Amino acid sequence: MSIRIVAIDKLKCEKELELKEVFEKMDEILRVGGVKEPIIVDSRFNVVDNIELYEALRRLGVKLVPISQKKASLYLSLESLGFYDEIYPEPLRVFKSTLELLYRNWPTPLVLLRSLSTDERRVWAKLEGFNPFSGSVKDRIGWFMFINAMKKFGGTYKKFVYEATSTNTGMALAAMAAMHGFKARFYLPITIQKASDVLLKVIGADVVRVPKQLTVEFIDDVERNAKRDKTLHLNQFENDANFEVHLRYTAKELELQIREAKIYPAAIIGGIGTSGHMSAIAFYFKNRFRENIEIYGVQPAKDHSIPGIRRVETGMKWIHWVKFNGVIDTERNEAVREAINIARKEGILIGLSSGAVVSGFKKLSSEGKLDRGDVILIFPDHGFKYVEQFQEYLQKHE
Ligand code: PLP
Repeated sequence: MSIRIVAIDKLKCEKELELKEVFEKMDEILRVGGVKEPIIVDSRFNVVDNIELYEALRRLGVKLVPISQKKASLYLSLESLGFYDEIYPEPLRVFKSTLELLYRNWPTPLVLLRSLSTDERRVWAKLEGFNPFSGSVKDRIGWFMFINAMKKFGGTYKKFVYEATSTNTGMALAAMAAMHGFKARFYLPITIQKASDVLLKVIGADVVRVPKQLTVEFIDDVERNAKRDKTLHLNQFENDANFEVHLRYTAKELELQIREAKIYPAAIIGGIGTSGHMSAIAFYFKNRFRENIEIYGVQPAKDHSIPGIRRVETGMKWIHWVKFNGVIDTERNEAVREAINIARKEGILIGLSSGAVVSGFKKLSSEGKLDRGDVILIFPDHGFKYVEQFQEYLQKHE
């Protein structure tokens, strides 16, 4: 058999590799911008060799793959393999389900922030608050972790999902649970605003407040409870679907957006919680742009709490697999103030971690960095959940 191009869904593979095992292969594919060899299959389309290539391409979301029964060399670009075909927004914005409203509404908007731009520098914000369930970037992982688990585990578990969350993943999973006839229970730290309990309950979930500062402090307890009660625990902190969904959709759609708008990003800045979205963006863009792009994370300053983000040393998975150019500390008041500044200058209400991203950007800018070219800020959520923090800030400072 010579080399053929077939739909990736036709192939069967007995072995499933871990994300870490195919990381280097994905790195190479993104760097090269295509593939250099076929997947080796038998006459029944079972993958018998180059499993790494198959697994890497599957995770990167290509539609087509080259196959052969013998090793060979070739070059096929990502475009020709339908790499970008998954991003297909509904042009007239009529959706056949609330689930479609999520993935056929992507890309989330990328908007020029005139208040932060100068003649030499344009600052763009990617507004993850436009996701429908939690008004946040976490809708993406809630969807992907949930559908992956359904494919993998089917009816093995009770139709009940437990998760430690600082709200957004909870709201996203509560939506997925509601749509699929599941119940949901979320464990929140005491540092999170009270409004979250109401929001989560409205979407049908139980809420348990844990007397700890950070979600990561009680993941093991949630895991134990889930095992005891035989419920699903997707564990956003460890679940590679978290990284993968951002690689396959968030980063990919952002590349399409900047290509279309002729944006040449010098830097991308975003907040880090599980580190899922910024690690995937770093991995994707560092490979596609050959290191010509700087990636910065933003974390809360020591002893400061900013919902959704936390300090790298509190433990996170994917950030250690990729390269960042720096991680910037931001105080809580700075984050709230910058969210308010954006609202007052740009008219959009953004969340506190988005405010932290603006603050991080301003710190880099005040060091003389990023004063030329395009800069992209990832704003993880909408501001509607943070009325309590906004109120407290206004009472103290105005
Ligand atoms: N900002 C907000 C508001 C969040 O809810 C989260 C995650 O929970 C983040 C930032 C951090 O995102 P990630 O977990 O992908 O690092």
